[in-house]
Amino acid sequence: MPRELVDLHIHVGGAVAPHILWSIAHQQGFKLPVKNYFEFVELITSTPDKVKSLEEYLKIMHTWTEKIQSSPGAIERSVYEVIGKEYRSSNVSHIELRFNPMKRNLHSELDLDHIIHAALRGMDRAILEYGVKACLIFCLAREFDHRLNAIILEKAIKYRNRGVLGIDLAGTEKDALELKPEMVVQYEELFARARAAGLKTTIHTGETAGTGAEGVMAVVERLKPHRIGHGIRAAYDENAMKLLKERDVVLELCPTSNLHTRAVENLQEFKHIVRTLWDRGVKFTFNTDGPYLLNTDMSREIELVETNGILSSTQVDQTLAWAREYSFITNGNGQGAF
Ligand SMILES: [Zn+2]
Repeated sequence: MPRELVDLHIHVGGAVAPHILWSIAHQQGFKLPVKNYFEFVELITSTPDKVKSLEEYLKIMHTWTEKIQSSPGAIERSVYEVIGKEYRSSNVSHIELRFNPMKRNLHSELDLDHIIHAALRGMDRAILEYGVKACLIFCLAREFDHRLNAIILEKAIKYRNRGVLGIDLAGTEKDALELKPEMVVQYEELFARARAAGLKTTIHTGETAGTGAEGVMAVVERLKPHRIGHGIRAAYDENAMKLLKERDVVLELCPTSNLHTRAVENLQEFKHIVRTLWDRGVKFTFNTDGPYLLNTDMSREIELVETNGILSSTQVDQTLAWAREYSFITNGNGQGAF
């Protein structure tokens, strides 16, 4: 049996197999811009020649996959299928699946609680069938106003004892609200409220090429997350790495995602980043981000790291140990009730 893997950073929007989305779309009578299945696969997959930036990658997710997943039946099946697929393909026995429930309720036409309950049902079924540990993380959005993000937080708190164990902040870094003094205060309050309610927190930052480590620094100082999504820019800034180490913040690295969205130029740069973080004692994990959208899975992510000499097998085992140690499931609920 292959070794047990962990995926702490995976979006429902990029993780459902094309044939499942195709099936859901038809089941719901969804009008698609393509007639043929292979054109559909092309439409919802990010090949390097098609996607040249994080913005283009997110656009595929927002335009098609999130829309198709916008009904209780669709989100239940999506969550169920993602967890099962990760286990079957890569022996992922521990998965933290994230999505924004408010991007699945057709701009308030659907009731948010129905969407959330459906996602939890999908998760419960997969846990029962495969014996894995899983939880949900709700993504707040940088492009949402404060009121909407506050509602998502309230829902996460409401469902904390049902398996929603954390919140995230996602979206492009063009709107880096953590760098805007008038905005960051509001978000400080939201993240403090999340922590006080016993939720764990993670934040997407320090991903995009061309940005510095200032986003990482601001997020750690002001929003105090337990983990950071990507955070690779920190590898170019000694102070940022020192801060991450001091505050014991773990980075969720996503190798294929960074290569596809051009967050890193090539494998050499990714290797440089990983080795620098390792040398400076910054803890990190490897994750898929969006396995179908990026045409990868957890086994391939680990293989990429090992076969390209980025880290040794023993070092990879250490990152898997960190993933378990800093998982929201074991941290938030003792032995992983979910
Ligand atoms: Zn992500």
